[in-house]
Amino acid sequence: MKPEEMVCRRFQALKAYDPTRSVEALAEEVGVAVAGVVKLDGNENPYGPSPRVKRALARYPYFHIYPDPYQKALRKALAGYAGAGEESIVAGAGSDELIDLILRLFLDPGDGVMNLPPTFGMYPFSTLVCGGEVVGVPRDEDFHIDLEGAKKAVGPRTKVVFIASPNNPTGDISDRETIQALLKTGIIVVVDEAYYEFCGETVAPLVSKYDNLIVLRTFSKWAGLAGLRLGYGVFPPAIAEYIMKMKPPYNINAAAQVAALASLKDLEYLRGRVEAILKERERLFFELSRLLYMRPYPSRANFILCRVIGGRAKYLWQGLRQLGVFVRYFDTPRLRDFIRISVGRPEDTDALMAAIKEVVHG
Ligand SMILES: *Cc1c(COP(=O)(O)O)cnc(C)c1O
Repeated sequence: MKPEEMVCRRFQALKAYDPTRSVEALAEEVGVAVAGVVKLDGNENPYGPSPRVKRALARYPYFHIYPDPYQKALRKALAGYAGAGEESIVAGAGSDELIDLILRLFLDPGDGVMNLPPTFGMYPFSTLVCGGEVVGVPRDEDFHIDLEGAKKAVGPRTKVVFIASPNNPTGDISDRETIQALLKTGIIVVVDEAYYEFCGETVAPLVSKYDNLIVLRTFSKWAGLAGLRLGYGVFPPAIAEYIMKMKPPYNINAAAQVAALASLKDLEYLRGRVEAILKERERLFFELSRLLYMRPYPSRANFILCRVIGGRAKYLWQGLRQLGVFVRYFDTPRLRDFIRISVGRPEDTDALMAAIKEVVHG
């Protein structure tokens, strides 16, 4: 047998995740200057990290020493920020790592993970990587969760359900009643609050009441640290203990620990940037809704899902790319007529709107 034939069957069949790429890579792909790239495809924070982060990184003396495997200082600071006990917090190299760790912790081969599409693509991807089966329960016309369908889909081997709230890419939040109804089924309910700081609504306080609730957060979006990879979860303590035991010991690198601690000391600055993004979201929504061929969906996050009337979303996406403006297109039947646009700075909105008009009107 050739080595590549010895690869696990599930990886032989795996379809790669379609990730967002670096600014340099995007510029090269379409042949524009790096400075000309308008990157509105990854929901990153265009303002970058707090200036305190850069200062703290420049001063940090221990990059030659392994980072703290127990994440002590970080878990303490995160606990204060999230309003939870330190024993409930575990940090991950992005919330992506926590999604993977949670699935590795709970799935025996063939166990089920409920996915509520359209939603974040890492849930089904990581499920397959971890040897689970994806149980899909599509959202309704308005992208609301089909609660009755979800409850019926819980089988004896269903272990986990992921609920992104606000949901990526639709931008809407799930109400507490829906989340509580799913908690009552007894399976592990992971509420992914990657965009919490943009909407202010959380179920984190419920973690102390439900031993099957996990809340995930990240510093990638609101805090401008996507490149340093830092996420965390609020877990029931018994589950946190297991994750601490099975995670890679040094999963949070020293720079990410330093940057997250510095960010938490500069909340006023970061919240000001969040406010600027929310204000720009309203302007972007208004500008898009003035175009007859665009139908933006209301959003509680830092992006707007937009239906392209006449079904030319892919054509628009490609045309924008050629002009150096990058938005997200999803090549799935349900989202074929949609693009997702991250909210940038005012000048990004201006460049986007000009580019849309150029693509559509020539
Ligand atoms: C961006 C995003 C994440 C990924 O966050 P990282 O911390 O960068 O891994 C997780 N969940 C949702 C819903 C996201 O949109």
